[in-house]
Amino acid sequence: MAQVSELLRAGSGVDLGSIDPAGTPGLPDTKQVRRDPKSWARAELADLGTQLARRQEMLYACAKKDRAERRRVLLVLQAMDCGGKDGTVRRVAGTMNPQGLHIVGFGPPTPKELEHDFLWRIRHALPEPGLIGIFNRSHYEDVLVARVRDLVPPKVWQARYAKINAFEQELIDSGCAVVKVMLHISYDEQRRRLLQRLRDPAKYWKYNPEDVDNRAYWDAYQRAYADAIAECGTGHAPWYVVPADRKWYRDWAVAHLLLDALDHLDLAYPPPDFDPETEIKRMERDGTG
Ligand code: ATP
Ligand code: MG
Repeated sequence: MAQVSELLRAGSGVDLGSIDPAGTPGLPDTKQVRRDPKSWARAELADLGTQLARRQEMLYACAKKDRAERRRVLLVLQAMDCGGKDGTVRRVAGTMNPQGLHIVGFGPPTPKELEHDFLWRIRHALPEPGLIGIFNRSHYEDVLVARVRDLVPPKVWQARYAKINAFEQELIDSGCAVVKVMLHISYDEQRRRLLQRLRDPAKYWKYNPEDVDNRAYWDAYQRAYADAIAECGTGHAPWYVVPADRKWYRDWAVAHLLLDALDHLDLAYPPPDFDPETEIKRMERDGTG
């Protein structure tokens, strides 16, 4: 499992052009996987989901029992349009208990949000102790779309890398594990997915004509992503680049990354703050035991 996260971790030397969006790093090379990788990965995801749900319950239980507990997890999902953020939330977060999740999507800032620093709305959306937070887009939009579409002057977005690093360090110091994932799709795969949205009336709601305009900025976005990953891929809050043209690989890989982060929290069910034997005796005296 550690191997998948090591293979996908991206740092200062990241070269997105050399990462195949249809690749499947870390997938075992067995006969069964070669025969039908998709079915294999879907079955594995179910198993990973069971493990995720168990760890999530431990995390939740620890915070429920101990007010001083600070541990929580934040999964940041970033991608180009049609990159599969929604699908990842559905498939990976869908394996866990909704009560222990805190899922927030970020669109263009509202007038009220624009009155504040770019991290203001992010701070308000953080998971409480015991929860797994998932950001569908995030503070990274403020060094991606804000840069590519000239929403702020270069000086402003350039200064944000250091602010993001300080913010994430603060988060980690306060007990929050941070996992940042770029779902890496190809230009052609985005085209296929946009066409699917246009050909299926049940998907019209996901289509935005601006997505086609944005395709003209593809290369600028890739540069902005590479810089964000290079500038903010710190040791404590690393960036992972997950090849995402194949949805079954994407979900399998993100589940691994999340499980890895939870494993690093070294979780266990909280010990009882009562004596189970005494309580059982009390129940027996109660007459129905
Ligand atoms: P899909 O990938 O399925 O298209 P989506 O994440 O694009 O989904 P939308 O509701 O279509 O969801 O779009 C959200 C939009 O909000 C994106 O275009 C994104 O660039 C924009 N956005 C998010 N944060 C910011 C920000 N800080 N500044 C400007 N725009 C932002
Ligand atoms: Mg969109």
